[in-house]
Amino acid sequence: MPLLDGRVAVVTGGAQGIGLAIAAAFLREGASVVLGDLNPGTALADLGTDRVRVTRCDVTSGADVEALLATAVTEFGSVDVMVNNAGITRDASMRTMREEDFDQVIAVHLKGTWHGTRHAAAIMREQGRGSIVNISSLSGKVGMAGQTNYSAAKAGIIGLTKAAAKETARFGVRVNAIQPGLIRSPMTTAMPEKVWDQKMAEIPMARAGEPGEVAAVALFLASDLSSYMTGTTLEVTGGRFM
Ligand code: NAD
Repeated sequence: MPLLDGRVAVVTGGAQGIGLAIAAAFLREGASVVLGDLNPGTALADLGTDRVRVTRCDVTSGADVEALLATAVTEFGSVDVMVNNAGITRDASMRTMREEDFDQVIAVHLKGTWHGTRHAAAIMREQGRGSIVNISSLSGKVGMAGQTNYSAAKAGIIGLTKAAAKETARFGVRVNAIQPGLIRSPMTTAMPEKVWDQKMAEIPMARAGEPGEVAAVALFLASDLSSYMTGTTLEVTGGRFM
């Protein structure tokens, strides 16, 4: 039987990159999927099935995230999986970073994940089951120069994941996180070649990861294959900074 047969999943930032790969993997495994993105774009056409809905959602707004989850309940009847994936970067050294770029990155990643975790958990605890997958980053484990905003937000997501896992475990709700390393997506291919090459040199497997390789781990955490796991963080990094 497909791993997510009959389940309903919500993915934020699902219009491209890792989020879109996660949505595609979930659809292949039988789920219905609701994508929420600031720029929904052509994701719906790309996925080509009637088990998907796409809505505009800004994860910095609690009301938007609640509306996104309500769409899943109205259209498909439940929320069994929530993936908090939406993200941005606003890199600069700490000396030159503008305060608004710190605030915006914290708002999208950390507060956005809090909104998604909190509102999804409220629905899931009533159902007595659910799996929440939060997309952190290797930057949150080791701290990257030029990313005091992003590293702080991504480390914060790990604390949030563990605290939420403790609060919701007895209701059948699991909360886990993924820390991807260098993954080939629109976010990273915009990087200058020199920076890309520096990162490649740090990867024991000597290649960047593909969005589908993060999606496979998200699928594992979303499905019953990981039924006794909560509060954990899985690294998808080709061995970088192990
Ligand atoms: P991406 O830029 O390709 O996609 C991010 C998506 O999030 C876009 O569709 C964008 O429109 C959406 N988004 C941005 N702000 C939003 C908001 N306020 N509300 C809703 N949607 C919003 O990036 P990606 O590489 O696919 O990254 C996905 C996630 O994985 C992010 O959380 C990112 O930090 C994380 N990550 C990526 C890498 C990597 O190497 N690509 C590594 C570690 C972690």
